[in-house]
Amino acid sequence: MKAVIVKQPGGAEQLNIVDYEKPVCKDGELLIKVKAAAVNRTDIVNRQSSSGYLKNPILGIEVAGIVENTGPNINIPIGTRVMGLVNGGGYAEYAVMPAERAMIIPENLSFEEAAAIPEVFLTAYQTLFWLGQLSKDETVLIHAGGSGVGTAAIQLAKQLGQAKVITTAGTTEKLDICASLGADICVNYKEKNFDEEVLNITKNQGVELILDFIGASYWSRNLSSIKIDGRWVLIGVLGGTKIENMNLMDLMLKRVQLTGTLLTPRSDVYKRDLTTEFFSKTVELFKNNKLRPIIDSVFSFEQIQQAHEHMESNKNIGKIILKVQ
Ligand code: NAP
Repeated sequence: MKAVIVKQPGGAEQLNIVDYEKPVCKDGELLIKVKAAAVNRTDIVNRQSSSGYLKNPILGIEVAGIVENTGPNINIPIGTRVMGLVNGGGYAEYAVMPAERAMIIPENLSFEEAAAIPEVFLTAYQTLFWLGQLSKDETVLIHAGGSGVGTAAIQLAKQLGQAKVITTAGTTEKLDICASLGADICVNYKEKNFDEEVLNITKNQGVELILDFIGASYWSRNLSSIKIDGRWVLIGVLGGTKIENMNLMDLMLKRVQLTGTLLTPRSDVYKRDLTTEFFSKTVELFKNNKLRPIIDSVFSFEQIQQAHEHMESNKNIGKIILKVQ
């Protein structure tokens, strides 16, 4: 089969399509004929240098496709359209997936749309509701609102959480999409100090929850924006990892609960439980288009290098998809 591997750690030019041995599904697994995969920031981290947590030499952590074969005693018929997270190996014509985390693709969604769902919607669901404990009528600050995870989180916070959403992004076009997805307040962080906006909007109280994809460069403004007893979930470090002159007393005084998380290295059991709960709560919303995967662009398998470069240029709104077969 054709698969994408990294020649050596580095830029997008290191991505290479090669002939690779087709995987075999073992106990509890599905073999999937991949129709579409999606690009994620974790693929870029793994391409640049080994993160240490992806053991598969083939990049790609989510796919949509058709079940081609199954391990013994699995009651998902061959030919079923499924989507879900894989433990690496997604950028390929065939991939294996633990059967317990396969989601059956609703009929109204194409393979490209389905491939845009697993990683960003599961991350958004997990951080809003499991780690972030978002409740109805609370206010959540969602950074990088135009990102894949951001566009999923805005929809879930409105549709499932019935919360008030403040979001930040760097262009008017991204903020317009955020508003169309239900965000109540959209702040261009390049034009305004988002913490001042948050304090104005919340009458100096701050927000109950922050989904933070940015990290270091937003540290003090996030501290100003969070309410006493607020929850702050650190999901990404696009703005750096090291904070100078950080004063831990600031966290204590506000009694902030700061939680860091990474989905990819979590266990199969955790991913199964997360997928099962997420899908049971959202499948009807996807069927009636109340939730929708936001696709920025679809690249062919051969354009994998351009797809990575596009994400690294920060231009995408929503997901970048790879059409595989
Ligand atoms: P994406 O679609 O590539 O979007 C990221 C956006 O973030 C960029 O387009 C850019 O939009 C904004 N951004 C980039 N650098 C920034 C900076 N220094 N300051 C402010 N904004 C910046 O990203 P994604 O795939 O949704 O992922 C979003 C984040 O979540 C990434 O950090 C990713 O690693 C993380 N993630 C974490 C997990 C986990 O389990 N922890 C899982 C999935 C994703 P603007 O034009 O608005 O600047």
